[in-house]
Amino acid sequence: MDKTLFEKIADREIPADILHEDDHCLAFRDINPQAPVHFLVVPRRPIPALVDLTVGDEELMGHLFVVANAVAVKEGISEGGYRTVINCGKHGQQTVPHIHVHVLGGRQLSWPPG
Ligand code: 5GP
Repeated sequence: MDKTLFEKIADREIPADILHEDDHCLAFRDINPQAPVHFLVVPRRPIPALVDLTVGDEELMGHLFVVANAVAVKEGISEGGYRTVINCGKHGQQTVPHIHVHVLGGRQLSWPPG
């Protein structure tokens, strides 16, 4: 099967500003940032979307959020606060079919989203 865009980033076939890497996931800056700090946390396993999660994925998904916070602390956005987002499917405006957590911070964000 063809690699996803994010698998290609993990395999260094596409360059990215990688902030964190471990056996299960990596975090890198979004190419089109929507906030002063905007990075993605992506599991190495190419689960396409939230709808594809199954029993057994709890630990991995929890790990993504632990890493998201650790990188947010390193990036200096944890004190002011930040937002995590996982877009899912067409209505969620997911564009890359490899599950990922957006982490946005460094400015006041608004709510609700559009
Ligand atoms: P989605 O729309 O699926 O929730 O989020 C996909 C994100 O991936 C978008 O915010 C988009 O800017 C980012 N993205 C798309 N292509 C690349 C790329 O080649 N490199 C990086 N670093 N981010 C990308």
